[in-house]
Amino acid sequence: MGFCVNCGNQHQDGVRFCRFCGTAQPSEQLLARLRAEAEQIRLIAIQMQQQQVNAQNDAYARLEAMRQQAEAAARLNNQQNQQYRPPGW
Ligand SMILES: [Zn+2]
Repeated sequence: MGFCVNCGNQHQDGVRFCRFCGTAQPSEQLLARLRAEAEQIRLIAIQMQQQQVNAQNDAYARLEAMRQQAEAAARLNNQQNQQYRPPGW
């Protein structure tokens, strides 16, 4: 079962003209090509989505690494401050 490209009424597969409005229907060959193209576009969209997720994850990972570095530096500073504290403090 297919649908008329013009009026949307349902018709048998493989008909050349719509029995409701008379519009010529795309051939099975063309439909198959369009389906293949649509599938390719769908796959590309999934790929792009995945790349976006990967880029986001990379950015988070870099940010987290920077945060840990800053934390380590702060901890070191803190330790050094305690070491240099004059006696009696
Ligand atoms: Zn029609």
